[in-house]
Amino acid sequence: MIELKLLVLPGDGVGVEVIPAAVDVLEACAKKYSVSLQIHQDLVGGASIRAHGVSLPDSVLERAKGSDAVLLGCVGGAEWEGEPPSRRPERALLALRKELGLFANLRPVYAWPALEDSSPLKPSVIKGVDILFFRELTGGIYFAQPKERNNDRAVDTELYTRGEIERIARLAFQAARRRRGKLTSVDKSNILETSKLWRDVVTDVHKQYADVALDHRLVDSFAMQLMTTPASFDVVLTNNMFGDILTDEAAVIAGSLGMLPSASLGNGRALYEPVHGTAPDITGRGIANPIASIACIGMLFEHTLNLPAAAANVQQAIGSALRAGYRTADLQPTGKPASTQEMTDAILKALQAGR
Ligand code: NAD
Repeated sequence: MIELKLLVLPGDGVGVEVIPAAVDVLEACAKKYSVSLQIHQDLVGGASIRAHGVSLPDSVLERAKGSDAVLLGCVGGAEWEGEPPSRRPERALLALRKELGLFANLRPVYAWPALEDSSPLKPSVIKGVDILFFRELTGGIYFAQPKERNNDRAVDTELYTRGEIERIARLAFQAARRRRGKLTSVDKSNILETSKLWRDVVTDVHKQYADVALDHRLVDSFAMQLMTTPASFDVVLTNNMFGDILTDEAAVIAGSLGMLPSASLGNGRALYEPVHGTAPDITGRGIANPIASIACIGMLFEHTLNLPAAAANVQQAIGSALRAGYRTADLQPTGKPASTQEMTDAILKALQAGR
């Protein structure tokens, strides 16, 4: 029997509503695929600041390091706005990514056939979209030194090493090999030295994955093609900043922030979290869309447990609930209005039926 040691951190706001839904799906799926679960739940972000004065106590970080994976909800809220950096909930996210060495952020963007009308893009444009973004998460302009600022001058530094590019490129090529065999690497190599290195390194790594079709695009024209021909992309590889912007742009395709899961991987560790924030406008009403968090469970089965059949089962169950017409408030006005619990129950039912 496969064993999974999981740290669950629901966080703040709708995190405490959608993460229990994801855990229910995990438990049902684990039973079906003979996975033995060891789950520990703890506080993070604002909830932890309230209880312990810090957003990520050392004990929680240590437990994260000793776990196979972390399932995190979301953190933040008006209560902590204007607080000094040491008392900001999002500090916990940055610390977890850094301390766990999570250098690759994976964001699947999928156009669910049942939701083709929920996107502002035309159904004919989003039909068949199934993209997996690999965004480099721990390097580049967000972290590199020097950073400087005075009244008249500010400096941020874009810096990448060959090693940083190679390790994420390898993961992206391996994923492309398991999918439709196509990788698009995005850069700005007509201007930036870091992008020239990025393109050279990705081209070098490609030699070990010659069965994957590689294609390089400049970020500006790629941003346009993502909206005009999104179905033409399979795996997309980007640096930290381009990925930050492009994955939010791609979210338009899925129709709601409540649909998008993510995984951050590196050095054998993994953190799964929905892309959305704490949604203070709907917190406490039981109407948050649990699909992003439930889809994280699918990613966990694929990437941490290496059980692609279980991952496909979760994906099918979500599709089945959507086809049956269940719609949380963010996906209306079409379909049957569903609460968080009703959507979760519909997905659980489909999962158990194996549909
Ligand atoms: P948000 O993602 O919380 O909300 C944006 C919009 O999407 C809102 O209308 C919200 O109701 C809706 N939405 C989000 N998740 C949903 C879900 N599961 N179901 C249905 N609708 C959903 O972004 P925001 O309003 O900019 O930020 C609110 C708070 O969340 C802020 O404190 C911000 O710092 C924090 N935040 C945290 C994370 C994270 O923890 N990873 C990410 C983004 C924002």
